[in-house]
Amino acid sequence: MTIPTRTLNDGRSIPQLGFGVFKVEPDETERIVLDAFEAGYRHIDTAAIYRNEEGVGRAIAASGIPRDELFITTKLWNDRRGAADTRAALGESLEKLGLSHVDLYLIHWPTPKNGSPVETWETLGALRSEGLTTSIGVSNFDERYLPEILSTGVIPAIDQIELHPQFQQRPAVSLAAQHDIAIEAWGPLGQGKVDYTGGVIGEIAARTGASWAQVVLAWHLAAGRIVFPKSNRRERMEENLAAASVELSAADIAAIDALDLGAAGRVSSDPADAN
Ligand code: NAD
Repeated sequence: MTIPTRTLNDGRSIPQLGFGVFKVEPDETERIVLDAFEAGYRHIDTAAIYRNEEGVGRAIAASGIPRDELFITTKLWNDRRGAADTRAALGESLEKLGLSHVDLYLIHWPTPKNGSPVETWETLGALRSEGLTTSIGVSNFDERYLPEILSTGVIPAIDQIELHPQFQQRPAVSLAAQHDIAIEAWGPLGQGKVDYTGGVIGEIAARTGASWAQVVLAWHLAAGRIVFPKSNRRERMEENLAAASVELSAADIAAIDALDLGAAGRVSSDPADAN
């Protein structure tokens, strides 16, 4: 199974299909991430707030996979801001992960109630220059929050946002595209909160022999988005990885594009409220 990669605006390469560990219990993380590695994943998306960075670190160490074959992302939580605290937070994450650098470090949420993110963002730029993270980006910075980041002149490589067929975030995606910022779609399958098994997606799945989840993931990949669906189950890990070989027609892609409900399609927190 060849996992497609995409080149970021900083020249680095990222596997377009990875494995997310939101809500993976800390004491199960090592086993589940080792399963994901065995299934063929090399890109892991974690965060300080998931409280499972140690488990990810143990899995990395136990796997024996060379460091340069892995792509590891973690994120700065909302209660850590400013130069000194941001620097300390990445240090703590690296310690838990057992790594000297991550591949991608993200500000997890814009948290407008914390005031301007500029000092924190410029600190990420410094941490990248020092080699503690290879790439930097933001998460949940939609078209309301991305402009302040862009005003610093330090352009994120990635914006990680909620995105699935009924919530396609067109304003944020189009602003990101103007700066060649790659979109990572979190909740790529709708977090189990939307029924994507029937309708247009179910029809495409039935006709092509792919599962509904593979159809949705193939739709993301065709648009150049990066995804890391989460499942604790080995067979679903494999099913999701195999989406890389599912090809959709232009008509099928257009039919899924037409499922967008705009803001009404959101199933998780609005960044304005996540402080
Ligand atoms: P998801 O869309 O990946 O959905 C996960 C749900 O889908 C689980 O209930 C799982 O059992 C089910 N599922 C997975 N594969 C399936 C399959 N093949 N068939 C049927 N059901 C399947 O949602 P998510 O886990 O929230 O998002 C993926 C990753 O995105 C997370 O693990 C995390 O790394 C990241 N994330 C980031 C943020 C953020 O604020 N930056 C927020 C949420 C998630």
